[in-house]
Amino acid sequence: MQEMANLCAEIRACQKCDLGRGRTNAVPGEGPVPARIMFIGEGPGYHEDQQGRPFVGAAGQYLSELLGRIGLRREDVYITNVVKCRPPRNRDPLPEEIEACQPYLDRQIALVQPAIIVTLGRYSMARYFPGQSISRIHGVPKYVNGIWCFPMFHPAAGLHQPRYRTMIEEDFQKLAKLLKDLERAPKAEEESSPPTPPPAQQLSLF
Ligand code: SF4
Repeated sequence: MQEMANLCAEIRACQKCDLGRGRTNAVPGEGPVPARIMFIGEGPGYHEDQQGRPFVGAAGQYLSELLGRIGLRREDVYITNVVKCRPPRNRDPLPEEIEACQPYLDRQIALVQPAIIVTLGRYSMARYFPGQSISRIHGVPKYVNGIWCFPMFHPAAGLHQPRYRTMIEEDFQKLAKLLKDLERAPKAEEESSPPTPPPAQQLSLF
């Protein structure tokens, strides 16, 4: 899609915050446009910075494996990050960096038009669940402005700690259920308009 290609070119040339000076490559994101599911991580790491592609290191391989377990391929989903350039030594992105980069993410979401946004980690979660603790709300989706927002731990957490691995894998099963529920919903909607999302009570069964 030309509009997304133009946006990615704009991101690759961006110097709106200090992260632009230290990067090897900006990492705009990749995937189909539009896409039913969009994953939003935190920021590029070493391998992503080297290649200019999101989630290509160990956490990315784990993400691909998790997608495969619920019948999805990487090429089926759009993947990006809250900040598009690597923070030095993989530190957390600063509030001013997140704010400077936010308009790019807003435009990507508008172009991708996802039915579900999966937030990976605290920083992307904060956009839709401000002031919440990820330990408390992971795996519980919320309907925000026409999009199901689904908070999860970052896959990197699952690489080193079995406890997180179990929670991430359980949350992927809940994501699969949400997808199935949404697939069923349009059939019911053919008979009644306007369209409605699946009821929240149904999702609280997770
Ligand atoms: S992180 Fe975002 S705002 Fe900062 S330089 Fe990179 S693309 Fe621009």
